[in-house]
Amino acid sequence: MKSALITGVTGQDGAYLARFLLNKGYKVYGLIARRSSETFWRLDYLNILEEVELIEGDLTDFSSLISAIYKSRPDEIYNLGAQSFVGTSWDQPLLTSNVSGIGVTNLLEAIKLTNNQTKFYQASTSEMFGLVQNAVQNESTPFYPRSPYAVAKLYAHWMSINYRESYDMFTACGILFNHESPLRGKEFVTRKITDAVAKIKMGFQKELRLGNIDAKRDWGFAGDYVEAMWLMLQQENADEYVISSGKSTSVRELCDIAFEYVGLDYRDYIVIDPTYFRPAEVQVLLGDSSKAKEKLGWYPKTDLNDLIKIMVDADLKRVNTKETMLKS
Ligand code: NAP
Ligand code: GDP
Repeated sequence: MKSALITGVTGQDGAYLARFLLNKGYKVYGLIARRSSETFWRLDYLNILEEVELIEGDLTDFSSLISAIYKSRPDEIYNLGAQSFVGTSWDQPLLTSNVSGIGVTNLLEAIKLTNNQTKFYQASTSEMFGLVQNAVQNESTPFYPRSPYAVAKLYAHWMSINYRESYDMFTACGILFNHESPLRGKEFVTRKITDAVAKIKMGFQKELRLGNIDAKRDWGFAGDYVEAMWLMLQQENADEYVISSGKSTSVRELCDIAFEYVGLDYRDYIVIDPTYFRPAEVQVLLGDSSKAKEKLGWYPKTDLNDLIKIMVDADLKRVNTKETMLKS
């Protein structure tokens, strides 16, 4: 039986990846950072909390990574742990650098010193393209990060490649474009919108305050994207791959789709609030994942319109359940 260690297992991608690997027959270990309250709601939502073996550890604590590797003896390590929210990275640039940047070097060193045959996946990001240098971004597009988060991720990306080239380690980097789901954190704009749509529809919220609604992203479904992570580690050689939907949509259009789905007009509810504007913005992203299609046989399966409807439905259900519980 193959075994995998996932950092960030309590996050959106960690939960979907854990379920995917369990379905493939893996023994799955998850690294969990100590928090004062439980963070298992996503693993619960997918009904896999009992099946994942949890190991305490933190990307900023080198010794905890060494002992997590000793305990799990993994064939594959998926590094999904990060301070992953771009907005917060301006408020906490040092923490972001430590977790999403240096944390990766901690993990690479831990692998090098324990078993450098372990296959390693690094969660790189389209945010590294930032101020885009080509209209469509692929693996050879130059990077231009625009936030402390993106800078930390770019450092981690090159460190992963450097360990491959220096120590012959298997380090694959997935340059994933934005991917969403009902398990997305509410600070991200898609889930902020679908949560608000559900609450407005049910009469619990009056307006939705947003920042730059002309920003465009290439959005896909997280459940589709975790398969690409696994495929990257099944190849003979480690490499970098862009994973994207190949369509760019504005936040405004996203609002239109989500509100229209419940019979409302977004223009009646959106308030533009300068507090949500960023010090430096990534205005537009659009990925080309032809390489992943050709080499991994991967392509996105879920259409954005369907994804938004799935997210709105899930949030309507949550709002209704909460309301029923409050009444009882
Ligand atoms: P997420 O939901 O924010 O999950 C982040 C995970 O990292 C959580 O499990 C969190 O634990 C954990 N974590 C935070 N600080 C840690 C630390 N110091 N040590 C160990 N674990 C720590 O993120 P996601 O959307 O699943 O994304 C997964 C990865 O892909 C991240 O690296 C992200 O930057 C990258 N990425 C995401 C996207 C996207 O669109 N989702 C696109 C490209 C790349 P707690 O639950 O305890 O906080
Ligand atoms: P990101 O691409 O990782 O930064 O994902 P987000 O979902 O946080 O943001 C996507 C885009 O939506 C960015 O260009 C934001 O500036 C824009 N945006 C506009 N209003 C908001 C908002 O209220 N919250 C967030 N998170 N993003 C917003």
